[in-house]
This record gives sequence, C-alpha cells and structure tokens, in this order.
Amino acid sequence: MNDLKRLAFQRKNKMVFLVVASLLKGIATIGQAFFFVFIADRVFLQNAAFESLFPLFGGLFVAILLRAGAGYAIGRAGVDLAADVKSEFRKDLIKSFAENPLLSAAQGQSGQKVSLLMDSVDEVDGFFSKYIPQLMQTYIIPLLLLGVIFTQNWTTGVIILITAPFIPVFMAMVGKGTKKKADEKMEQLNRFSGTFLDILQGLSTLKLFGQAETQQQEIRKSSLSFRDSTMDVLKSAFLSSLMLEYISMLSIGIIALEIGLRLVVFDSISFFTAFFILILVPDFFNLLKDFGSAFHTARGSVSAANQLSAELEKKHSVLIWGDEVLAQEPPHLSLEGLSFRYGEGFALNPLRAEIPPYSQVAIVGKSGSGKTTLMQLLAGLLPQTEGELIVNGIPREAISEKSWFDQLSYISQNPYLFAGTIRENMEIGANRKVSDEEVLAAAKKAGIAEMIFALEQGFETLIGEAGRGLSGGEKQRIALARAFLKKPSLILFDEPTTGLDLRTEQILQESLRELQKTSTVITVAHRLHTIKQADLIFFLDNGNLDAAGSHDELLQNYSPYEEMLAAQQGGSQR
Ligand code: ADP
Repeated sequence: MNDLKRLAFQRKNKMVFLVVASLLKGIATIGQAFFFVFIADRVFLQNAAFESLFPLFGGLFVAILLRAGAGYAIGRAGVDLAADVKSEFRKDLIKSFAENPLLSAAQGQSGQKVSLLMDSVDEVDGFFSKYIPQLMQTYIIPLLLLGVIFTQNWTTGVIILITAPFIPVFMAMVGKGTKKKADEKMEQLNRFSGTFLDILQGLSTLKLFGQAETQQQEIRKSSLSFRDSTMDVLKSAFLSSLMLEYISMLSIGIIALEIGLRLVVFDSISFFTAFFILILVPDFFNLLKDFGSAFHTARGSVSAANQLSAELEKKHSVLIWGDEVLAQEPPHLSLEGLSFRYGEGFALNPLRAEIPPYSQVAIVGKSGSGKTTLMQLLAGLLPQTEGELIVNGIPREAISEKSWFDQLSYISQNPYLFAGTIRENMEIGANRKVSDEEVLAAAKKAGIAEMIFALEQGFETLIGEAGRGLSGGEKQRIALARAFLKKPSLILFDEPTTGLDLRTEQILQESLRELQKTSTVITVAHRLHTIKQADLIFFLDNGNLDAAGSHDELLQNYSPYEEMLAAQQGGSQR
C-alpha cells in the first residue's frame, strides 16, 4: 500500500490540488451548516423579517455551491490521478514485455497472461480515484469540523475524541482479514481463468478422448470456489460497514443525548450551538464511514498492484553493451555446450569454442551439416536446447534483445525486406538519420549501387511485398548495405552459394575486409578465399563440431578438411 501511496505523492500538483479542494470543501461544509442554523435560529426563535434573511440565503447558496464544486473537483482529481498512474503502469508493462519478447515468451507470458496483467491495471483504479481523495479529505475535513465543534461546545469534542478512534481501530481489524481474502480472490480468479482457457483450447482433443464430462466438472468446481471467495470478501466488507454504521450511530446518539440534556434540562447551551453541532457531527462520522468503504476498495487495488510490481521488478534485461551504437567493441563469445534440436529431428550437438573479438570465423561443412542452424543459434533467432552462448561473460539471454540486435547484423541468403523503398530498407538498421552520401557510399560498398542507378526511381524504388521483386543476391547486397550503415560489432553472414560475377565477387571481398576492421565476422563460407582468410574454421559434420582451427592447422591435422577442399575445388587450389 505504501508503494501505491508513493506513486500518488509523486504527483505533487495533483496532491496539492486535492489538499486545497478538501480544505475548501471543509470550509464550505461548516459554512453551509452555519448559515442553515443561523437562518433557522432567526426565523423560529427571533421572528426575524423574511427580507432581512436574504443575505443569509445568499451565503447558504454560495456555501452549497462551493461544497458541491469542491466535491466535484476532488472526484475529478482522483479520476485524473488514477488515469495518470494507470497509463504509466501500462507503459511500463508494455516496455518490459517489448524489451525482451523472447525472454517473456520463455517465462510463459502468453498473450492471455499479458492481457490478464493489463486487466490488473484497471483494478488499481479504485486506489487512486477513490481511496486517495478520501484519505486527503479524512486528514483535513474532520479536523476542521472537530476544531469548530470544540469552540462551540468542548464536551461534545471530548465525546467525539473518545468514540471516533474506535472506527479506525475496528477498520484495521476487519481490514487485515479482508486483505487476505482479497489476495485469495485474486489468485482464485487467476487460477479460474487459467483452467477455463486451457480447457477451451483443448476442447476438441478432450472430446476425442471422451474427457469432456470430467472437464465440465472441473470448470464447475473452480467457478464455484471463485464464487465462494468473492462472497467471502463481500461478506467481510458488508460486515465492516455495518459495524461502522453502529459505531457512528452510537456516537451520534450519545452526543445528541448530551446536547439535548444541556439544552432542555440544564439550559446551559443556546439553540444555535446545539443545532449547529447536531448538523456537523453526522458530517464528521460520514466522512469516516466513507473512508472505511474507500479503504475496502483500496485493499483490492493493493493485491492487483502487488502482482504488477512483481511483474515489473522481474529482471527482464541487463544492458551490457549499452545503447550507444557507435564505438562499440566486438564482444568475446564463448560457446559453452551450446546445442539445439528441431523437435525430434536434426540435432546440433553441444559445441564448445571461443571466439575472441575481431575474429573472422568460417563455418564449413556439407549441406545439411547444421551450418545455418548454428548461425541462427548464434544470432539468437533460435533458442538453444542446452548450454549457453556467453557474451563478455554474460549469458546471451540476460542481454536485452534490443541491445543484442543493435550490435548484430545477420545477413542470410534470403534476407527479409519489408514493403517500402530501397532507401528505407537500407536505413532500417541504422537507427538514426543518415545522409544521402552515406546511403550512396553504403550501396557502393555493398556492390548494389549500379543496379540501383539503373532503376528509374533509384533509391526511392518500392520493393518488398508490394514493390519490385529482387533476386536473392540483390536482396543480400541490400542487407549488406544495411550493415554498412549500422556498423554492428558482430556480423553473421551466410555467403552466397550461387556464382557471382567477378566484379561483384571482388566488391564483396573488399566489403567484408572493411567490415572486419570494426567487427567480428562469422561466415557460412562457400568460397575458398573466405575459408583461407579465416582465423578460425569450424568444420561441421552431421551436427557435430568435428574440428576447429586455422586453414593450416586443419590441413595438417584433419584429413576430411583437405577432402572437402579437394571436392569443392577439384583439388586444384589450396
Ligand atoms: P546447412 O546450413 O549446413 O545446410 P541446416 O542447418 O540448414 O544445414 O540444416 C541442418 C539440418 O536441420 C537439415 O537436416 C535440415 O533438414 C534440418 N532442419 C533445418 N531447419 C529445420 C526446421 N525448421 N525443422 C526441422 N528440421 C530442420
């Protein structure tokens, strides 16, 4: 509850507004009672002329208006406050899911669960729209009323001082029980919706296996227990309002008795004072009672809020590279038993290897040996079945998706281009405004500039779903141009298998050399040149990392490597 209160008090302007409005409401309440009693006193006891009362009626009217206005303003401020806090909660939740969707998915946050959390945000409403405004009023108005009552007749003040504390004490007692029940209800609700959804989704399967009947019982059971816990909460809420009613009735009764005795029997108090007090006292207790019911609403909100805070506090991400794109050092990568299996099918067996910063790694192996799978695993596009990819000493999953993908370019054989212009497709990775010159330079380095110039609309040509079709190689070079604009520190490149013309091949070679200056480059290599240049070659065979080393090392120690080169090049090149 204190956390929620802090959220409210952080919004200082609204709280100051509430205090001022509550003060005005208190003053108006007293004014209203004063004018009312004064008029009655004049009319009935002093037989005043009706015309002489006009200014008093004016005063009464103003007081009533002011009280209503202040009440309205307090209500509005509460609703505004609630809307403000709720929108912040929603934003935080969305941010926390968006920052790490893969991790959220891994933690079992399916769509339903997310929407359930979003619903909990609404449950927080009561706390801010009802409880906080009531709390401020309860701090201020009863004190004002009590002050006035004391000046009028101090014995009444003393009676109030003795009886009023019973209300908060009693509320605290009942409140404790209610809180537990409200928590229980929340959990029941969650469990109920979970069961219900599970069963609905699996309904056809259940029917096939003749389980529909049993599940019907299951739904019946959980809905009944949800009903019971709701009734429990309501019961204690009703019970507590009944008790509050009793306490305040009793107190008002005692005060009325005291005043009546003094007025009629002892004649030690004026009619004006007696009437004035009798009008103010119920107002005093009404405020406390309203606070009591607001308190119950707040209890429900607190359960929901606890759920939300627990969700928001989950460590979704650790930023390790920071969010600055430029001047990033390539990371040190360690593959610690990294493995992956497609369901019951192909498995990439646990891999162990170190990839220091600025390495050039070539992944080689027969078709179907698992090269693409390994690349996707390294990119974080496939979740490992076992083991870890350790990045600068931190497990890959602990890094937020944003900061990971900000540092990474994955240029597959068939990269995804979205519907838009060529330029937009290039800029996407850069995450910043890029100048025409930069776009042109990137296109040149990627060997795609000539092709783009040949198009009627150049960089503004529409491509992707709605636009012009591009060949696999062209798409790949646009993706390469993206990488030049993005300047990532880790590049995963699936080299084209299809033959390139000599010129494009040269451009590509140069491009890669340039990218290697600022990043680690891991390539699925098909070209002998790339393989020979690599610091580290991973030789994959049927899902196993059979050998790792430089070209020379593998030539000396690992005969399948030589055989592969021979097969690839007809044995002519080494
Ligand atoms: P490479 O890139 O070396 O040719 P891949 O990593 O693409 O090899 O594929 C390795 C094995 O995994 C192949 O036998 C392929 O059939 C299988 N495979 C690839 N993708 C999937 C998938 N989505 N589901 C199941 N099996 C797959």
